[in-house]
Amino acid sequence: MKEMDRKRRNKEDITPISKTREWKLLYYEHGRPGLEDSSEYRGLCRHCELCATCTLPKPEGGVWHCKYYVAVAKKISFYENVLKQLEKAEDVVHFDRDICKILAATMNEFVVHFPVKMDNGGLKVMTGYRIQHNNALGPYKGGLRFHPSVDIDEVRALATLMTWKSAITNIPFGGAKGGIQLDPADFSSDELERIARRFTFALGNNIGPEYDIPAPDVNTNPQIMAWILDTYLSTVTPNERNRCLHVVTGKPIESGGSKGRNKATGQGIVFLIDKWANDHGFNLKGATYIVQGFGNVGSWASRLMKKKGSKLIAVEDVTGTIFNSEGIDPDDLANYVKNHGGVLDYPNAKPIDHETFFSTKADIFIPAALENQITAETAQLLNVKLVAEGANSPTDLNGDIILQRKKIDVIPDILCNSGGVIVSYFEWLQNKRSEFWELDEVDNKLHKKIISAYEQVHDTAEKFKVDWRTAAQVVAISRLESVYKERGIYP
Ligand code: NAD
Repeated sequence: MKEMDRKRRNKEDITPISKTREWKLLYYEHGRPGLEDSSEYRGLCRHCELCATCTLPKPEGGVWHCKYYVAVAKKISFYENVLKQLEKAEDVVHFDRDICKILAATMNEFVVHFPVKMDNGGLKVMTGYRIQHNNALGPYKGGLRFHPSVDIDEVRALATLMTWKSAITNIPFGGAKGGIQLDPADFSSDELERIARRFTFALGNNIGPEYDIPAPDVNTNPQIMAWILDTYLSTVTPNERNRCLHVVTGKPIESGGSKGRNKATGQGIVFLIDKWANDHGFNLKGATYIVQGFGNVGSWASRLMKKKGSKLIAVEDVTGTIFNSEGIDPDDLANYVKNHGGVLDYPNAKPIDHETFFSTKADIFIPAALENQITAETAQLLNVKLVAEGANSPTDLNGDIILQRKKIDVIPDILCNSGGVIVSYFEWLQNKRSEFWELDEVDNKLHKKIISAYEQVHDTAEKFKVDWRTAAQVVAISRLESVYKERGIYP
């Protein structure tokens, strides 16, 4: 009995460094010395060859797969993955634990249920999320996603990534994200308009031009931003309306949008690939690339890579996967996708399957679809030199370990796709100042900001001898940590 009590007390004494079930499993079941909370390894197995932080020699005579690996090999959710990255950065730099506790939590979470009239006269009650992760550096900022997989955890993860992204690029925004779980294909354009408007109305003053500023993300676009803008402006007093244009970014240009915003995420990706190529003495002319996702980010990145003389040879989207060793014209494909809704049956390429797509030998892979696409299985297949992460969190924890082992360079998401939020910031500034910048000015400013972030990540990776994902995270957390330390915690 006493023995049981002791065991129970010990379990309760252990404070898991992450809330994930997997970590608890490790603490409670691993039972190896050196795995306690006080260990400098903080729970990571010292002998597992799949553990990225393992520094000790492997045991003679083979591989020892620890339970940590078994635990992480189980599907880790997108949000757990994001928190795990924070822990990894924390381990490298020993950031203030209390500040990391603040950053591991979201500040505000809104779940709104609202009625929407359908075209057939019926009514649907929809659920929308807006998660505000952090506003230490400025107003909450982040996109709105319409997708069947949207849930509160996914939005939490995306909101957290937005905080890191604003911090890494040194723009005065915090992080937020929103979404509605729906498949846009199930709704008419009129219904989508009513959904966007009722969602905006339900959020009310929980968004605002100086408080929380939405933008487009998966399956939302400038038109949807225009409906949100119009709805928001209709709810403020008439003499305030012209001062509130910056309540959303990614608007159509006529409604106050910025030149260059539509292509901004793709443009930022290509600026970074170009910088990576220069730094590595690699010629982009004639280089081959494959792209997953051919929406806003994937299609713009592809079209701008074409201008560098690179050759697109395979594309996968939700409708299908295509390949042509002679090259696929991204402009022509973008036209085709506009008219047909996806790459399926594109006449100038042949269909291939998902595994063949991931195995395609190419120089660069641009994932620009959804999270958790590069997993232990698909990372094993990849045959590229560089992964430029257009999507948010396209690589999961296990996939990342494999990419490192295969020595594939990675420009991590919070740096790589930050062009969108950078130009959103420019749009916000133009609205506040009643200015309109020419495209050259937008592109030049974007180039300067994103390359400066790249250089900081590069220097941080060198300084701490860590991978670029961890380095990017370190740059972001350092900035937030300084702000919290300077200001202190009220009261
Ligand atoms: P989008 O809706 O314009 O395009 C999404 C693309 O992904 C489509 O081609 C779709 O067919 C494809 N896709 C969806 N599910 C897929 C699957 N299971 N397999 C293969 N392809 C699939 O969205 P977007 O704005 O281009 O965003 C793409 C990614 O980039 C997302 O992760 C988003 O969060 C991120 N991102 C977007 C922006 C932006 O400015 N739009 C900025 C930063 C990051």
